[in-house]
Amino acid sequence: MLDKHGARSVDAFEKLEQVGEGTYGQVYMARSRDNGEIVALKKVRMDNEKEGFPITAIREIKILNSLNHTNVIQLKEIVTSRNMGSIYMVFEYMDHDLTGLADRPGMKFSVPQIKCYMKQLLTGLTYCHLNNILHRDIKGSNLLIDNQGVLKLADFGLARPCAVENSKTLTNRVITLWYRPPELLLGTRAYGPAVDMWSAGCIFAELLQGRPIFPGKDEVEQLDLICKLCGTPTAKDWPEFEALPWAKSLSSKKMFPRRIKEEFRRFSSSARGLIDGFLTLDPKKRISAKDALDSDYFWEEPMPCLPCELPKYEPSHEFQTRKRRKDFTNNDGVKHSTDQNEHDEFLTGVVRNSVGDDNLLVAGEPSSHHLSSKYSSYQGHFRRSNFPQPSSGQANWTQTTR
Ligand code: AMP
Repeated sequence: MLDKHGARSVDAFEKLEQVGEGTYGQVYMARSRDNGEIVALKKVRMDNEKEGFPITAIREIKILNSLNHTNVIQLKEIVTSRNMGSIYMVFEYMDHDLTGLADRPGMKFSVPQIKCYMKQLLTGLTYCHLNNILHRDIKGSNLLIDNQGVLKLADFGLARPCAVENSKTLTNRVITLWYRPPELLLGTRAYGPAVDMWSAGCIFAELLQGRPIFPGKDEVEQLDLICKLCGTPTAKDWPEFEALPWAKSLSSKKMFPRRIKEEFRRFSSSARGLIDGFLTLDPKKRISAKDALDSDYFWEEPMPCLPCELPKYEPSHEFQTRKRRKDFTNNDGVKHSTDQNEHDEFLTGVVRNSVGDDNLLVAGEPSSHHLSSKYSSYQGHFRRSNFPQPSSGQANWTQTTR
């Protein structure tokens, strides 16, 4: 059943259950009535749309349609409800998101597993960045994982083509607070792929430590936490920082030394080196996704396990763990909510729910030239001629209580 635009009806799918709630709309697990295939239906929220289809959804669809990589979620089609009242994006279904998985009781990832997840995250980011796409909301709940262990970058609702260098046309109100780099917190409007690399570093450190490393309540506290671990920025290690719009907010602050080595002393020196590269204050000196994949961390024992060697888990999405947490009330009736989304949805929502102030750029979605370049077939990463296989013993997964 096709509508006048050639889209199928959502009735082609049977909704099974809600698995997610983005700022953008609900996400459902659904079954195709044609062939039984399980998919994810992401509803496009039309509430505030006086002028038809939301521009944010158009951007996301355009970008997703132009990307094609194992580590990037695949948009299969768009379906509509009767009279185009609601619109849904149909995605391949993914069993988990990284936050939901990490929040499972007693979950602790082994080093080969962390390497496997990080390698896939960095491979997806390398592909996006080579194709000039910034994701701008890398966080655990946007990293989806299927039961074959394949990790895919999802939620391109804030993604944008890279700006022309120094064009200062982007908004700094992107990236969920805990994963937001210092240059955005200091108000820059000219930035590039390095913003995603900071977020990747926060995820890496979180996987190692078992907890978020910068859980700020607001932008001021966020910068504070960053300075306490990464050191207060100086003109010596970050020459451009003093020219950033809100750099003065740091001038009254105590000068903290960089403490990455001490904080991560119980991890290998290659892991520390990589965190140091991700969490470099100066975005120009921050490690790129491609160089991170080349770092010793991924090429020394214990080697990353293969995705298919990861354990199989019951489905786990952040939405469900959050729901469980929300229902948890302590003895004196105080509701606990440690949920990051609740803290800062309003911070990222500014751009999602409106055109945002970098809309000029959006008109320049990735050109077919970029995306049909040699990189569009980029599927994996090979630093050395043969990719070493993990030894079977290293793929073991251990569950311990945190
Ligand atoms: P999003 O609005 O894209 O950030 O999605 C919100 C949540 O819905 C994610 O954190 C996932 O838990 C879930 N979700 C999104 N896309 C999928 C998918 N393709 N398969 C399964 N769950 C998904």
